[in-house]
Amino acid sequence: MYIETPLVESRALSERLGKSVWMKIEAMQPTGSFKARGIGHACAVYKERGARRFVSSSGGNAGLAVAYAGRKLGVPVLVVVPETTSERAKHLIGMEDAEVVVHGKSWDEANRFALASCTSADAFLHPFDDPLLWEGHATMIDEVARAGLEPDAVVLSVGGGGLLCGVAEGLRRNGWEDVPIVAVETEGADSYARSLAADERLELPAITSIATSLGARSVCAEALALAKRRPVASIVVSDRQAVAGCFELLTEHRIVVEPACGASVAALDALAHAQEAELRDARNILLIVCGGVGTSVDQLNRWRAATDPNTETA
Ligand SMILES: *Cc1c(COP(=O)(O)O)cnc(C)c1O
Repeated sequence: MYIETPLVESRALSERLGKSVWMKIEAMQPTGSFKARGIGHACAVYKERGARRFVSSSGGNAGLAVAYAGRKLGVPVLVVVPETTSERAKHLIGMEDAEVVVHGKSWDEANRFALASCTSADAFLHPFDDPLLWEGHATMIDEVARAGLEPDAVVLSVGGGGLLCGVAEGLRRNGWEDVPIVAVETEGADSYARSLAADERLELPAITSIATSLGARSVCAEALALAKRRPVASIVVSDRQAVAGCFELLTEHRIVVEPACGASVAALDALAHAQEAELRDARNILLIVCGGVGTSVDQLNRWRAATDPNTETA
């Protein structure tokens, strides 16, 4: 359902930071992102519990992971997406033999339709708010532990907080509850940063960042709860910085990722002057290269031009 991904030290990032930066390259998953882990695990459990079909309303990496898991498990999959979903995304999901239904102008409408389409024989796969997902995502930290790396800090991106909850679970079950997690978002998709600051779950009125995979208007409750039990630092970067992070991975490591992932690369620079001494002093940094199939080099170039302050936009 997922593969053990490479754990590679980035000389380029390490040199720049004066720390060892280890990349857990989830972009190498067959579905292009870490979602294969948690969603694969959840789908396997739901099948065991008798589910005859998997239903998703994600046109992004979550929907693709559900489609992939369904094909692997021999269970039919329905993915309901809004009209705004790209042809490329629909094509990728269709390639996994899932049924793609286009419904509604926004994700909310597609999601309502998907939920209404569910019968008692179906399992609905939430993209981030499900303990089964977190259990599956946690396997990436088991692999890091088995490889013999003890991180002093983990840097990862936050959308709805599923990856965050999964990594926190992985750290906990490997005895690393005290290892700080740096939770990265982009401006305009910063529901976690705002909720932490307010100490309550806030809902963003709209998502204005290009990092659509981080575009959950509010995070899951567990993402806020775990910040009370263990060290979590929050960093928000601009879209422009996130795209620069993508280009850094492309140039140095020949890996194409979404801005949702480039954001974490961009956030590394903030560690040197973090408020928390444990982040400033951290030697071994584990960077989760969460990946994402929703972009291309052409698209990255267009974003770079569009977010360049020296470029006039018409
Ligand atoms: C889903 C996803 C995220 C955000 O994960 P959450 O579990 O929603 O926090 C970040 N990057 C990529 C590439 C994703 O697919």
